[in-house]
Amino acid sequence: MSVVYIQALRNLALRLETLKIHGHDQVAVTGDDWKNQMRAKLNKLNKKKAARERSASMPAGAKVGDNSLDDIRVEVEKCQKCALGKTRINTVFGVGDPNARLMFIGEGPGADEDRLGEPFVGRAGKLLNDMIQAMGLSRSDVYIANIVKCRPPGNRDPLPEEAAQCMPYLMRQLKMIRPEFLCALGAVPARNLLEKNEPIGKLRGSFHDFMGAKFLATYHPSYLLRNPAAKAESWKDLRLIMNEMGLKDPRGKNV
Ligand code: SF4
Repeated sequence: MSVVYIQALRNLALRLETLKIHGHDQVAVTGDDWKNQMRAKLNKLNKKKAARERSASMPAGAKVGDNSLDDIRVEVEKCQKCALGKTRINTVFGVGDPNARLMFIGEGPGADEDRLGEPFVGRAGKLLNDMIQAMGLSRSDVYIANIVKCRPPGNRDPLPEEAAQCMPYLMRQLKMIRPEFLCALGAVPARNLLEKNEPIGKLRGSFHDFMGAKFLATYHPSYLLRNPAAKAESWKDLRLIMNEMGLKDPRGKNV
């Protein structure tokens, strides 16, 4: 071992000792450890910054708690904030991948959903599954929720006050899931989220910004079952999302 190398080691030992004397207990680290620690700290700071920026862009209803999805689900199961709580069989919280890039939002549960506690399980649900599959995804790849978690009697639209009471739950779901893409199914979710009282024909067909996510509205699957001719327009909407997500048409056609 050369004299210069031995001297360098001595200097390093002296420097470490000096730092310890000054209270720096974490000095006995290698260069790689130090870099990893710095990287981890930087990542943590970046995550905190991103969370702050995202939180600042959210509507007031979203800034309630930092619970997990399961915590929110438990709250919803006990909820009686609006009249729909009195007539429901089950709450319908939402289903799918909690880390989904794409989230679909409908208006509220129907009879089948109320009975089973899961969104989009009837005929409209089957069509939605087909739509998701046509995008090259499966139901378990996306997240599906509604504006209201309890069934409006007779399958009527949720009243504005019911939607207003229930929306903070959805906002908290969005805060947890942080999807990059949102697809509103029908006029009710599109109007409630965009706060615009326009027909679905005007709201669909192009992206809007919502909480930093790319938001696109399309026709509700129930409407498509009643009006099959509108399926072509809805497919155009889904292809816009596919294009932005970088998905390929599984049938090999150009998106
Ligand atoms: S619809 Fe929403 S706000 Fe109304 S009772 Fe059900 S969970 Fe609560």
